[in-house]
Amino acid sequence: MTAKYIFVTGGVVSSLGKGIASSSIGKILEARGFKVSLVKCDPYINVDPGTMNPFQHGEVYVTDDGAETDLDLGHYERFTNAKLGKNNNITTGKVYFSVITRERRGDYLGKTVQVVPHITDEIKNSIKRVSSAGSPDIIIVEIGGTVGDIESLPFLEAIRQLKQEMGSESAINIHVTLVPYIRSAEEIKTKPTQHSVGKLREIGIQPEILLCRCEKPIDQDVKQKIALFCNVREGAVIEALDVKSIYEVPLMFAKDGLDDLILDYFKLDSKKGELKEWRQKVVEIIKNPKHSCRIAVVGKYIMLQDAYKSIYEALIHGGIANDARVEIVKVDSEDVSAHNVRNLMSGIDGILVPGGFGYRGIEGKINAIEFARKEKVPYFGICLGMQTAVIEFARNACGLKRANSTEFNSKTPYPVISLLEEQKKVKIKGASMRLGAYPAKIVANTRAHQAYKKDLIWERHRHRYEFNKKYKNLMEKKGMRISGISPNGMLAEIVELKDHPWFVAVQFHPEFKSKPDRSHPLFREFIRASLRKK
Ligand code: GLN
Repeated sequence: MTAKYIFVTGGVVSSLGKGIASSSIGKILEARGFKVSLVKCDPYINVDPGTMNPFQHGEVYVTDDGAETDLDLGHYERFTNAKLGKNNNITTGKVYFSVITRERRGDYLGKTVQVVPHITDEIKNSIKRVSSAGSPDIIIVEIGGTVGDIESLPFLEAIRQLKQEMGSESAINIHVTLVPYIRSAEEIKTKPTQHSVGKLREIGIQPEILLCRCEKPIDQDVKQKIALFCNVREGAVIEALDVKSIYEVPLMFAKDGLDDLILDYFKLDSKKGELKEWRQKVVEIIKNPKHSCRIAVVGKYIMLQDAYKSIYEALIHGGIANDARVEIVKVDSEDVSAHNVRNLMSGIDGILVPGGFGYRGIEGKINAIEFARKEKVPYFGICLGMQTAVIEFARNACGLKRANSTEFNSKTPYPVISLLEEQKKVKIKGASMRLGAYPAKIVANTRAHQAYKKDLIWERHRHRYEFNKKYKNLMEKKGMRISGISPNGMLAEIVELKDHPWFVAVQFHPEFKSKPDRSHPLFREFIRASLRKK
């Protein structure tokens, strides 16, 4: 069968959770036996988000094939079995880059190159390219931004044309919109949704289904009104109430029959849905966990919701695997000093230092790590969190007082973290880190091996610096061992402490591969150790 397309747009305001909605649609269709893939279209002119800071963009999510992508791809992979890569995130930057490269080559000789048809054709081809990988039955295409934005227009025009070309029975438009409750009037308002759908219709798109985000349930007469004014069937006005956990959303959609609506539209037959496991092994545990623990995440972007998205989710997954609620305590690394660290960490069962770039906040992270090491508090270091653990150990356990990473001090006498050999010649900043999945050998009888129960693993990377092998012998003598190493023996991928209940730090990003129903083994074991400490 040729793939069917679901186009997801958003209206009224941003942050309506289109990414979670798209992922949840993927989940309920997988439960009905279909193979899905997902694409995110981002209207910004950066080629990828890899060069943006977390204030601009939140987390940069990394795929197996080394693409730096929008964090919605993280939701897609957590909710579904889709395997995503560089083709699953289309940006205006990528689209123009490819069109302009072809223009310079002379592919359009004699022609004026224009938004319509050249840019829109390139968008359509990029969307179609997704169907060639793994032959999905259904492809969900999420258009970033809000309807009415100038920069998303070419994407909307492209999906309009696609539906026209494929025939309307092959593509469905779902519009995620806001139905606000106005407290002073004690009323639910439909006007923003009417306007938003009106805006879509102006450019030739008529949504078939509306997902109405709301904090209060929407009465039938309000649904009727929305249906009438927006020209959709009454049954296609779906109420998407606020929920406590994002993992409840697929259950809510299935309860409202969203899967049936979509499959009826496509005239696809299928078995009945099965979300039993998801309900029992994910949502029930989140709602009624037996245990609980408090984990401090020490980072410099803790004031942003989205900067450590996958880390926060992976901690929740580690909790689910241990029947526990994980309370995440966000600690600003710039606030952690040698004097207040004990105070800040009181009542904390485990400490995690996530990835990052630049010197700001580094000394606070090192103070937190020293505390975790000496007080035997479970510690999990990720990427920069491994590099800072190595610096701390070099300074405070090996007597190399001014040890540092050359990222922070190029003249340090003890460069325990230094630039990867392959990075020394790199001049261009975009997509030039060590990116994507690489293998590592796991040493027997280590914490890492206890977690993975495997001798060879594949994990995703995003870094330029690495552990400097020159210091390996000294560090090992003092009790820090390398428990994961690249197959050629050159790169330390995991380090851990011998005399500590659980102190594991990794050069890669395990958070990108964790799922609510399949916690990453390191997150599972970190939470287990934290519960034990408690
Ligand atoms: N800044 C460090 C490096 O480039 C760590 C990167 C990270 O934490 N993702 O190696």
